[in-house]
Amino acid sequence: MHYDLIIKNGKIVKTGGIFEGNILILEGRVAGITDSIQNGDAEKTIDAKDLFILPGVIDPHVHLGSYSSQDFSGDLRSETAAAVAGGVTTLICFLKAEGSYLNLAKTCIEEVGENSLIDVAFHLILLDEIQIEEIPLYVKELGITSFKFFRAPRGDTVSTIQGVDDGLLYRAFQKISKEEGCLAILHAEDLEIIREVSQKLREEGRQEAEAWSESRPPLCEEMSVCSGIILARHMKTPLCIAHLSAGNSLEYIAESKAKGFPLFVETCPHYLFLTKDSPFKEGTFGKVNPPLRDSSDRDSLWKAIARGVIDYIGSDHCPYTTESKGKDLWKAKAGLPGIGLLLPILLSEGVNKKRIGMEDVARVCSYNPSKIFGLWPQKGMIEVGSDADLVLVDLERSIEVKSEYLHSHSDYSPYEGYRIKGWPVMTISGGRILYKDGRVFNVEKKGRYLSRKGSPEIRFRNGESTRR
Ligand SMILES: [Zn+2]
Repeated sequence: MHYDLIIKNGKIVKTGGIFEGNILILEGRVAGITDSIQNGDAEKTIDAKDLFILPGVIDPHVHLGSYSSQDFSGDLRSETAAAVAGGVTTLICFLKAEGSYLNLAKTCIEEVGENSLIDVAFHLILLDEIQIEEIPLYVKELGITSFKFFRAPRGDTVSTIQGVDDGLLYRAFQKISKEEGCLAILHAEDLEIIREVSQKLREEGRQEAEAWSESRPPLCEEMSVCSGIILARHMKTPLCIAHLSAGNSLEYIAESKAKGFPLFVETCPHYLFLTKDSPFKEGTFGKVNPPLRDSSDRDSLWKAIARGVIDYIGSDHCPYTTESKGKDLWKAKAGLPGIGLLLPILLSEGVNKKRIGMEDVARVCSYNPSKIFGLWPQKGMIEVGSDADLVLVDLERSIEVKSEYLHSHSDYSPYEGYRIKGWPVMTISGGRILYKDGRVFNVEKKGRYLSRKGSPEIRFRNGESTRR
């Protein structure tokens, strides 16, 4: 048999264990996994001795075209290069606009085919009544099955956050629950308390990074997480809590999950590595929502990953430049660039520090996001028939982070200067090598738009929603 590519002698990471062997690739898919190659040759053979082979990372939390000085297609080009440099082979991008998404999303789908290196799916951020009405159309016509909400009190003219009040959230959850296998994603922060606390800090003229964390205490997240879960459970709406940052709501989440309710939790690499006391060259470089927390929160999040209470990791990547980010703490844009360091941080701070194992990395970076967001079995695992999206990892490679290595439009990294041990050395998407040893290749290759169907994994099953 003649294959397009053979990767031999690698440590192949599956959710059930790691075994040494070879991966045979034909026409963009995994055609075989063997412990010996008897009769087969290939166009190209790669020796993966001493390297781990993971399923390509799925980054389900990326902002393109809305938080950058580039347009959507510019972000697609630069940030999918940054993605492959970090071992990411699929991303799910949040679209954000007012009014009907039908035309906008169709344009964005075309742009993926023209500009993206890797496969891309979309979530929609829903901000108004038209969009909530159109949820069934977005599922049917666009193949989008997950919808994010920011919560904002009705008539709020003080905060700059656009969002929906609890009445609209109720209406939206009701709609989503009628679409099989679709999800609501919640940005869980209580804005009214934030407004109250930050007013005082602003008046005191506080500008250092810690003041941002102080202005949005963990209590705000806990309140919003808990009330969001209560609403979702009553409406029978599968729910994702986006970017969980603090440890105080984990117990409530674990109890809710134990009842069998389809509830999924994300955290981000920055909450697993940085804290509010981390040094930043500029006070605003670490400004993100929810904010950076204490080391005790960071430790709780790692434990929750190991226990399966946290299901998946998203980078919440926003490709700001130093200039577009801004210098005044209270006016600067919130969000961090991070797609290229999602996997390295899990390897360096997780596997190499023995907080989690390599199989956990495959689970939270590939397998779980694939199942939750309806990309399985095409994505998220190394099995015959799945897309040949793979990342080869050297767990011993140790490099100090410099933003120029990251291939992003962003000219800074909040991790700049930190030494990270454990890096992707090669990224393969659809059977083609897109990244190797610091360089991005085959940029003429184009990714596909991934139209999704509701995931069968996340249905409310009979009876469980009535359990207390
Ligand atoms: Zn958010």
